[in-house]
Amino acid sequence: MSSTLSRLTVLAAAVLAAAAPLFVTLDLARDLALEDTQTESLRLAREVLNRSDTAASQLYAGIDQLSAFPHGTACDSAHMDAMRTVVASMGQLRAIGLMRGNHMPCSSWGDHGEGLDFGPAEFTTPTGSVIRTAVSLSFAPGEVFTTVERKGYAAVIHKSQPVDIVTDLRGVGLATFTPGTSELRSVRGPVQAAWIDRLGDQRELLFRDGEQLVAMLRSPRYQTGVIAAVPMSHYQQQMGVYMLRLIPAGLVAGAILLLAFLYLNRLQQSWPATLRTALRRNEFSVVYQPVVSLQDGRVIGAETLIRWQRRNGEHIRPDVFIAAAEDAGVVHLLTQRVCDLVERDVRQWLPRFPGLCISINLSANDLHRPETVDMLRRLAGSVPERSGWLTAEVTERGFMRPEEAIRVVEALRADGIGLAIDDFGTGYSSLAYLQHLRFDCLKIDRSFVHTLGTAAPTSQVVFHIIELARSLGLKMVAEGVETEAQAQTLRELGVEAAQGWLFGKPMSAQDLTALLERGPVGTCRD
Ligand code: C2E
Ligand code: CA
Ligand code: CA
Repeated sequence: MSSTLSRLTVLAAAVLAAAAPLFVTLDLARDLALEDTQTESLRLAREVLNRSDTAASQLYAGIDQLSAFPHGTACDSAHMDAMRTVVASMGQLRAIGLMRGNHMPCSSWGDHGEGLDFGPAEFTTPTGSVIRTAVSLSFAPGEVFTTVERKGYAAVIHKSQPVDIVTDLRGVGLATFTPGTSELRSVRGPVQAAWIDRLGDQRELLFRDGEQLVAMLRSPRYQTGVIAAVPMSHYQQQMGVYMLRLIPAGLVAGAILLLAFLYLNRLQQSWPATLRTALRRNEFSVVYQPVVSLQDGRVIGAETLIRWQRRNGEHIRPDVFIAAAEDAGVVHLLTQRVCDLVERDVRQWLPRFPGLCISINLSANDLHRPETVDMLRRLAGSVPERSGWLTAEVTERGFMRPEEAIRVVEALRADGIGLAIDDFGTGYSSLAYLQHLRFDCLKIDRSFVHTLGTAAPTSQVVFHIIELARSLGLKMVAEGVETEAQAQTLRELGVEAAQGWLFGKPMSAQDLTALLERGPVGTCRD
């Protein structure tokens, strides 16, 4: 059941690894297409605004020039020539002429006799220009003009002039309007007058309304606003373009991720096999690091540390392969090997050095397996004439599954096996289990020992740990002691024992035997 589950998990993770880049690609294509569509609608709006502003500036400049004309309202040929000169120099203007009431008696087009009837004014801008947006003239059927009248003259442009731009986008809506009103002036394509209100006081606005992406701009110079609405079909089309370009890259990235995942997974799955082979080939050994009494400097015990040297001579660090073995669920095989190796060594030592204590490290997984109790019981009983010499070092991580850990720890205690809490304060910390379970010893992690005498922000922690250990009646072993100054401070703080390079690096069983023989050897059970 659990192997089916884990196979399913691996499959799901593989699918995810392959699909993730595709999702990223899709997202990227979507972003780029949206950006393109926004840029396009803003570009169109700017072009409309530019044309509208150019026309407005020409309307006003043309009227200003004519109103300064010395002939006044003569409508004679010199007057009309002046009008033609103005129109010839201003490309956006269709005509310019004199106004009397709603009529234009003469213009750059010529003399209109009774006058061209422009009909009533539609509105007047705050600066006093009279605007008509739907003027039709009998000689230009089908065409609609916009006129601006001021100072007695009117200038005429094609109503569609601002929105007459070339674009190959289909379904684009373009318009101009006078801010503050609710009506559109020039319109081309689908545009809604209701959008005008949305601009408010802003200079620029971008929004999506249904199937259109709308850009609105307001002229900084004139009473003009413009709208450009690009259909969302353009967005979909752009997205297609980007997807065609990006999907191959996404597929390649997905394939690479999938391969990397499968490779790592194989490596992971091959750990148990690799470790079993290494066990068969006896590639594991143990070294011992002496633990000394801080009072008299005697060796009172040793911590067992596992070593792995591969056939090719390569050493693999214990924290690396222990973690891998834990993940692969086979760390108990290593613990078993450590027990076997320690058994061989203690058979020689214990009869000769009866006060000696040996500790071994248990991993979190060991604490969750009832079989660990039998394994350690057998080791503890392997030197029948001695008892109480074996200590199991456990880390706080083991208590992340407290029920199982507590059961194993209590069974070990019942068998007379000592318990040390290792690396205290470095990881997951729960004081609760410290009170409920009776430990014998607390190992002060070397990271705290190294802050002694420094200004490190955590340098106070070691004092609290020592206080806590004392209040719980625990013995203390300081780890990683490298200098005499550290040893001296720990001694003054009342720490009983220590290990570290100052006293001895982890060494072979042979070297420890030699060290013990030089003596004197103390006892850990004081
Ligand atoms: P640990 O239990 O905290 O072991 C102490 C580590 O500190 C050892 O590293 C030791 O070599 C190192 N050390 C000792 N004295 C000094 C010192 O003065 N200065 C400094 N800087 N370091 C010092 P090692 O042997 O590399 O082990 C690393 C970790 O691997 C151990 O930390 C332990 O968590 C784990 N480990 C080692 N052997 C076993 C084992 O047999 N079983 C299990 N489950 N874990 C083991
Ligand atoms: Ca340890
Ligand atoms: Ca430690």
